[in-house]
Amino acid sequence: MLHIGSHLSSAKGFLAMGKDALEIGADTFQFFTRNPQGGRAKDINPEDVQKFLKLAKENHFVQFVAHAPYTLNPCSDNPSTREFAEMVFQDDLERMEYVPGNYYNFHPGSHVGQGIEKGIEMIASLLNRILKFPTATTVLLETMSGKGSEVGSRFEELRQIMDRTDKPEKIGVCLDTCHVYSAGYDIVNNLDGVLGEFDKIIGLERLKAIHLNDSKMPFASRKDRHEKIGQGTIGLEAIIKIINHPKLQNIPFILETPNELSGWKEEISLLKSYTF
Ligand code: FE
Ligand code: FE
Ligand code: ZN
Repeated sequence: MLHIGSHLSSAKGFLAMGKDALEIGADTFQFFTRNPQGGRAKDINPEDVQKFLKLAKENHFVQFVAHAPYTLNPCSDNPSTREFAEMVFQDDLERMEYVPGNYYNFHPGSHVGQGIEKGIEMIASLLNRILKFPTATTVLLETMSGKGSEVGSRFEELRQIMDRTDKPEKIGVCLDTCHVYSAGYDIVNNLDGVLGEFDKIIGLERLKAIHLNDSKMPFASRKDRHEKIGQGTIGLEAIIKIINHPKLQNIPFILETPNELSGWKEEISLLKSYTF
């Protein structure tokens, strides 16, 4: 069965997101834990959370994905940027305790010229400090397109981050179809090969969520521009193979396509119609 949803606005709280998800035919969703540029998070309203949990249970929702702000960079060369990353990460995970068992996804970071090796080291060290505290959340490293000095555009880099952490069982991966295609993994012509490589290097059991996006940019461009489903360089045919792949069942698929609710509703119903 296809579990699918889209990125939603968290401005009105959890219950509103649950209702938006239902409205568009989704059984999962994603949201920014705070303004994507950073800033303060809204206070959690426990009553809102309880109503949401009830709605999610009644409608058989699967895990949702909370997305860290883009400004969170654990491997910046600026100590105050790294401190901000740690503060936000820790604060977000504390809030996630209200909704246990879900995912917290973040972009591993940009090493800004310090080198991949140094970047990996700093990301792992932040994870070790954060995961000292018990958490009911699984933290997800997102696969990146490799623009600029991004860490995480190669499966090997994600593996190395996990290998250097003390609690690898609390860490998973979110595969972004647009990003991996831009990073040079040919999911259009060789999906089985790419998944085989993922399995060999990271292990498919660590794949916890998929960002399902088409791409505006050509293969291996190292650019990050999402496109609506079926209108980009990945194309509908390849996307249909992805959602139906036997190794990708029961994983939440999240649309981050340039749409409003009505557009996501259409994409979800289109994709469901192509699910065998
Ligand atoms: Fe992301
Ligand atoms: Fe993404
Ligand atoms: Zn992206």
